[in-house]
This record gives sequence, C-alpha cells and structure tokens, in this order.
Amino acid sequence: MKIAVAKESEVGERRVALIPDTVARLVKQGIEVLVEAGAGERACFSDATYEAAGAKIVSDTATLWGEADVLLKVSPLQERGDGQHEADLLHEGQVVIGFLDPLGTPTLAQRLAERKITAFSMEMIPRTTRAQSMDALSSQASVAGYKAVLIAAAAMPKYFPMLTTAAGTIPPAKVFIMGAGVAGLQAIATARRLGAVVEAFDIRPAVKEEVQSLGAKFIEVPIEEDTVAAGGYAKEISEAAKQRSREVVAEHVKTADAVITTAQVPGRKAPLLVTEEMVAQMKPGSVIVDLAAEQGGNCACTKPGKDVLVNGVTVIGPINLPSSVPIHASQMYAKNVLTLVQYLVTDQALNLNFADDIIDAACITHAGEIRNQRIKDALA
Ligand code: NAD
Repeated sequence: MKIAVAKESEVGERRVALIPDTVARLVKQGIEVLVEAGAGERACFSDATYEAAGAKIVSDTATLWGEADVLLKVSPLQERGDGQHEADLLHEGQVVIGFLDPLGTPTLAQRLAERKITAFSMEMIPRTTRAQSMDALSSQASVAGYKAVLIAAAAMPKYFPMLTTAAGTIPPAKVFIMGAGVAGLQAIATARRLGAVVEAFDIRPAVKEEVQSLGAKFIEVPIEEDTVAAGGYAKEISEAAKQRSREVVAEHVKTADAVITTAQVPGRKAPLLVTEEMVAQMKPGSVIVDLAAEQGGNCACTKPGKDVLVNGVTVIGPINLPSSVPIHASQMYAKNVLTLVQYLVTDQALNLNFADDIIDAACITHAGEIRNQRIKDALA
C-alpha cells in the first residue's frame, strides 16, 4: 500500500499532513510512504528528514497524486496556481483524507463523489472518547486558542502579569474569553499562565467547572432554553436569549483589556456576541481577537484576516491560526491522521466497515455517493 503526503497549495498554509516521526511508524508497518518534495518545508521538516524516516520524495505532483492509494492533506482540495483542480488529480478508488470542509464547501464533496473517490473528512470525526486521538478539530482548536492569547498580548499596550517593581505596581490584565470549548479553554489556560485575571462565558452550563478548574471566573447567563445539541455541541439559541446574554456580558467586555471570542455553532454562521455599541464602550488600547472571523465573526467590527482600529480598540480577525504554529500543529494533526490511517488499514488493505461509527461518520464520499445527509442538504 502506498500512502502519499501532498504539499499544501493553499496560500498561507504552513502545516503538513505527516511529520517524519509518523512516516517512520507507517514504514515500520510495511507501508510505502511517498512525500511530495518540499511538503514539510514550511513546517521546518526537510525532505532529508522524511527520507531518513523511510519516505520516498517525489517531485512530480501528478505522479504523487496518481500513485497514492491513500492521499493525505491538511487544507481542502482546491484549484492550484496552474488552474488545475486538485480533485482532478485523483482517480477512481483512491482514498483522500484531510480537512475537506464538507459543510462549508459541499461542492468539493460532490466533485469527489463524481470521481468515485473515498473521502474522509477530519471535521467529521465524531467527538467521542474513542475517537479522541483522531480529533483534529480539537488538536488544531487548542493551537488557535493558545496563539490568540499571544496575539492579544502582543497587540496590547500593557503588560499581562501583575508586577511589583521599584518603579511602581502594575495591575494584571483583565482578559474575557467568550466561548469555552476547546479553543476557549486553551485560551484561558494560556492567559492565566501569562498572569492575567481571566473571566469566561459560554452558553453551555457544563463548562463552568472546567473554566473554574483553570483558575478563571465563570460568568453565568441564565438562559431558559436548551443550549446543548447532540455530541455536546452548542445549539443555536433564540434571538431573545442572545440579547439577554449580550446584556449580561456587556459589562465584562467593557472592563476587559483583552477579549478573545471563540464561539461557534457547527454548520452555522458564528453567533454575534460583541456588538458595535459594546466595542464603543471599551477602553482605548484594549484588544479583541475573534477566532470566529472566518465563520462570520463573533464581533460586529471583525474583518477576516485584518486588524482594524475602532475608537482606539484593536479588533483582530486572524485566519488559520494553527498554521502559524506549524511544527506542533503538524505534529498533532499527523498523530490524528496516523491514528485514523491505522484504524482504516489492516494488513496493508483498506478495511471500510461502515458499521463502525467513526468510519461511518468520517467517510463523506464512497463509490460515487455522498454518504452524509447534512452535506446533501447543504448542496440542495
Ligand atoms: P465549537 O468550536 O463548536 O464552539 C466553541 C464554543 O462556543 C463552545 O463551547 C460553544 O458552547 C460556544 N458557543 C456557541 N454559541 C455560543 C454563544 N452564543 N455564546 C457563547 N458561547 C457560545 O466547540 P468545540 O470547542 O469544538 O467543542 C464543543 C463540544 O465538543 C464541547 O462539549 C466539548 O467538550 C466537546 N468535545 C468532546 C470531545 C470528546 O469527547 N472527545 C472532544 C472535543 C470536544
């Protein structure tokens, strides 16, 4: 069996789907691993390190994509600089694994189904204990939460920690984290490590204990409706409940030096948590980092990929933050992908047991069909 690692073509993507350590693990199992020349370069893994791990370096993209039984990617397949779409480099029966954005870009799934490709979407790995080591959404969200705090700290005209010095006492920064899922919890932990006083808010009451165990104060918003959907995700709440929660959090936004927003509802536009009026109430010099920038933004002033200054408040809408920590983001992603590959491959043959909940959920196209109703609905 041949497994190939593609060089990412998305602008700004620095991650790579396998790092040399994980290549060595597959080679040890008797699998032939092909790596596109330069695939790991932007994550600081040279071709020589892949070769030393037992991979074969392939310079020609079409050869690599054509020969692979299983092709590994990070970003979704897309049109390349030369005008060719990556999906057209694949042929019937091949397997592709990556973040394929099936709900955001369902036309890609359609294209892969038409070409009879078996596609596994890392976004669709179930968030269960059994699938935890394959959960790339979590591993990458955790990188984003960490980096968001560093961006806020770097952009702020103040210290994060409390300092008692001969030149006077500096009070600690006040950081408010909105959305305490995987990214939000990592943001809390990072802001605490930097010495900030941290408050956090989420519509799922279950996160209160996790927030408190990280040393942050949980801001309670009484919401008299069910906020939790299947799988532990948040549900879209009513406009009235959103308004009520904005009223409660407004005071905390107003007094914060940094606000990190991470709120998402799967398959939906990100909820608006910070209105223009709330930004206008903030102190000059304060910073908002909006991790939901690519999904429409949690802040009304966010511009994806841009830093904007609104009445002295810097609103930052970063894009693809995991890619800005490419060594460790790739290391964790590679571990997630390796675990999935090892789960799928037995004695060098693909074992597609659709009765298995992980395989059933993550495999979005097979034998010419889109296998997921939500993707079909998104196409309709
Ligand atoms: P996510 O990225 O979809 O959302 C981030 C956070 O935003 C969530 O905590 C959500 O509750 C919150 N949110 C949504 N709407 C909001 C609003 N209007 N106001 C404030 N906050 C809002 O979530 P995620 O980080 O991917 O994780 C979601 C869930 O999945 C959590 O329950 C998490 O514990 C669970 N999970 C389980 C596992 C596992 O069991 N292996 C792994 C990862 C995540």
